[in-house]
Amino acid sequence: MSKSIQSIRGMHDVLPEESPRWQQFESVVADIMRRYGYSEIRTPIVESTDLFCRSIGEVTDIVEKEMYTFEDRNGDMLTLRPEGTASCVRAGIQHGILHNQIQRLWYLGPMFRHERPQKGRYRQFHQFGVEAFGIADADLDAELILMCARLWRELGLKDIELQLNTLGSNAARQQYRQVLVDYLTAHQDALDEDSQRRLQSNPLRVLDSKNPELAEIIANAPSLLDHLDEESQQHFAQLRAILDAAGIAYTVNPRLVRGLDYYCKTVFEWVTTSLGAQGTVCAGGRYDGLVKQLGGRDTPAAGFAMGIERLLALMEEQQCEFALQPPHAYLIMQGEAAIQAGLLLAEQLRDALPALRLTSNCGGGSFKSQMKKADKSGAQFALILGESELAAGNIAVKPLREQGEQQSIEQAALAQHLTTLINGL
Ligand code: ATP
Ligand code: MG
Repeated sequence: MSKSIQSIRGMHDVLPEESPRWQQFESVVADIMRRYGYSEIRTPIVESTDLFCRSIGEVTDIVEKEMYTFEDRNGDMLTLRPEGTASCVRAGIQHGILHNQIQRLWYLGPMFRHERPQKGRYRQFHQFGVEAFGIADADLDAELILMCARLWRELGLKDIELQLNTLGSNAARQQYRQVLVDYLTAHQDALDEDSQRRLQSNPLRVLDSKNPELAEIIANAPSLLDHLDEESQQHFAQLRAILDAAGIAYTVNPRLVRGLDYYCKTVFEWVTTSLGAQGTVCAGGRYDGLVKQLGGRDTPAAGFAMGIERLLALMEEQQCEFALQPPHAYLIMQGEAAIQAGLLLAEQLRDALPALRLTSNCGGGSFKSQMKKADKSGAQFALILGESELAAGNIAVKPLREQGEQQSIEQAALAQHLTTLINGL
């Protein structure tokens, strides 16, 4: 036998036993988005490499070393999307749906980054994200944060802390940049290779370094908060006032600069201590300059993205309540005539009872083996259709979980009978 083919390292199957969790997450998300007035957008998984270089920034982890980039058969450079914001902005500009209007969008899907796989860090992972265009005020930033808080509540998640910072206007950041470069240059010998390079190209990113040896230098660095412009200060104050009034707790973390280049003003992360090193479950902020940078008209924008694998892991860790949905009933059929009649009857039941979860036994088998499958399916009842039931126009309803005796029910009355049984569960 030849060696069987495995999935790509860092890219995982969602197995049938796991998919109900994903579906639960997706349905809670879709429901919340509908209630806040956000519309779903679906963009291609492959984009021009340029899109990510121009939006995320050349000197970021993603563009420097994490992208899945390849040349296609036409010689075009393409990239599997590493995140969703760039594609949303690209699509918005391309279809003219951003200018002079408000767009509140959300997306959900796989992202690809060539990172070292470990718990909570994969090469194909999934993000749910939101992007809102056309609103410059801090009330939108607050809405985004309130939406996240609602999602945690409705998923039953606890202990996710909000960290908040503001990056100021581009002008203020330029000024701070010089102060930071002076400070870091004075400590140049202690910087690691990555940070030495960033000191030249993108010094703020040094603050984002995960190297513990740099923790002290970073902690003592001058703070951006001391170099803010008036407008950003007001924006930040308004956001904080709304969050305070809404009872949303947060920590202001002046070192929070985010890995991507395109943020300004508000940035935030939701972090948990329950998942080890990979504790950031959601990250977002304002990126007023990006639409213009990608060739559109000046459009204020803000959004966030969350890692679904990390959130599902957290839900498991915190044993969030979750209703498994085995079938209500399992239909056992014996003999060719009963199979034909049984599948028809099953269709009629599904028409009559839209909430019914009914599994039909396909593939034959003895009565005993079909009963075994019925039990294994987790169903509450077996519906048994053999030759004698067929002749009499009946069906046997057999409780599988110690709920009383088997009953013989007229087929015409079965829908009504099942309604009563299901309502009683
Ligand atoms: P990190 O600092 O953990 O590398 P990041 O800053 O690169 O995160 P973002 O680009 O902000 O992450 O993505 C938003 C969220 O997507 C993260 O907070 C995280 O929950 C999730 N995420 C990012 N990269 C991965 C990955 N490789 N595997 C699983 N989830 C990820
Ligand atoms: Mg990363």
